[in-house]
Amino acid sequence: MTLRDLWQKGLFYVTVPTCVCCGDALREDDRALCSDCRRSYENMKARDCARCFRPIHRCTCSCDVLDCHFVHRLIKVTRYIKRDADIPSNALVYSLKKDNRLDVECFIADEIFQSLSALDEHPQDAVFTHVPRRSSAVRHFGYDHARRLSLALARLSGAEHTTFFRSKAKHAQKEMHGTDRLQNAQIALRHRYRHTDLRGKRVYLVDDIVTTGASMSCAAMALHAMGAKEIIGVCFSIAYLDS
Ligand SMILES: [Zn+2]
Ligand SMILES: [Zn+2]
Repeated sequence: MTLRDLWQKGLFYVTVPTCVCCGDALREDDRALCSDCRRSYENMKARDCARCFRPIHRCTCSCDVLDCHFVHRLIKVTRYIKRDADIPSNALVYSLKKDNRLDVECFIADEIFQSLSALDEHPQDAVFTHVPRRSSAVRHFGYDHARRLSLALARLSGAEHTTFFRSKAKHAQKEMHGTDRLQNAQIALRHRYRHTDLRGKRVYLVDDIVTTGASMSCAAMALHAMGAKEIIGVCFSIAYLDS
């Protein structure tokens, strides 16, 4: 148990944890969401992908942008509906980004891990890495949520994790449109990984949400250039594949 785990555990006993979506107090057996919000979250999860007609958390459909950038499979859990904080799946992502709550981080990591396991992936012999958060956001919030998620998934899978990249983006992706997103999604390979050889390796590339796929594509191109045999996208929610 890390110092942060202990701190969060302590906090749990001195504060009443609330539902990330409606703000109601959580009962002891609730995690991140109250039982009503949990029900509506499960309903959203069960909706079908419009391409393969499987529930979204059981489908690996990629999108055109990612497919062009070597990410032919994308594992996800639920849908993201733009700027609607009343939807539990969105509220979870917003909280992951800004609240620094361990229960939210664990909830999301467990949900993704369940999707990975159900798809009969064998992540233990792969490398986990993540799409880096914008540096100014890391300074502002104090952490990179995608890194934490990817670390948690590597731990659950018994696989290794490497932080290959740092973000060079000047603006938040949500402020950008169309091809500007690809332009803005600049990342840099961290110096010590300049000569890393990923030949023959499978890489799970983790992010919280995929909207246009621009940020993930940018990291995938770099992994491909390092020789990665297969790049599998992993995220909590996606903004497409509407049923
Ligand atoms: Zn609630
Ligand atoms: Zn699908």
